[in-house]
Amino acid sequence: MKNSKRLYIGLSFASLVVIGLIFFFVYNLVRFQNYPLIRGIAAGLAIGFIILFVLIAAGSVAILLSIIRARKITSLEGVIRIATAFLFPVAVQLGKIIGIAKDRTLGSFIEVNNYMVKTYRRIIPAGRVVILAPHCLQDSDCPFKITTDIKNCRRCGKCAISGLIEVAEKHGAILRVATGGTLARQILKDTNPKGVIAIACERDLSLGIKDATPLPVMGVLNDRPNGPCHNTQVDLVKVEEALGIMLNGG
Ligand code: SF4
Repeated sequence: MKNSKRLYIGLSFASLVVIGLIFFFVYNLVRFQNYPLIRGIAAGLAIGFIILFVLIAAGSVAILLSIIRARKITSLEGVIRIATAFLFPVAVQLGKIIGIAKDRTLGSFIEVNNYMVKTYRRIIPAGRVVILAPHCLQDSDCPFKITTDIKNCRRCGKCAISGLIEVAEKHGAILRVATGGTLARQILKDTNPKGVIAIACERDLSLGIKDATPLPVMGVLNDRPNGPCHNTQVDLVKVEEALGIMLNGG
């Protein structure tokens, strides 16, 4: 397992232990109360928590096994989703507490996600794959409104949009540019894809990946030589590689 994936996996398991310890501590505080009603409620909540905890633990183990075996355990897809939904925010916070930069944890989560998508080995027709690009890739001086229609791009080559159009055309995928999460969600609703290649920063990508679940999303990080959200760039080779995984099933 690569180091980058190891970080998120490690933090997930550490989060699992932290959640378990907090529960154990709180439960022990409550269960010795003199009031039978409080003890009864605590016992009921404890049973619910234990069931949830077992599901999250099973999901975490399923993610780990999928990565080690390079094959997704399809029957455990549900618990994998539950584990990600609960452990992701805890893992990010835990990382921050022990001094790991948020972007590093998010980057590792994106790596794990991409690898999981790869292990699906699901072939998606090109016409059902959307390449979702952020508006900040467009040159800030460009006067053409590409968010409403990508064909408005004159392909002058001054920014990454022209290259992305070529990649999309070459493979027959759909390319859209979004100004934010709301438009991105609308695009996914309108195009109804079976797979997404999303280009963005660590924060937007990880949020988008979680938002789009259960839709498979391959995340490609943008480069920000001019600072965040301004004239960003993207490695077209990485976009094409991600597209290849969707179109060829891994
Ligand atoms: S490649 Fe397209 S979007 Fe980029 S600056 Fe040129 S015309 Fe504008």
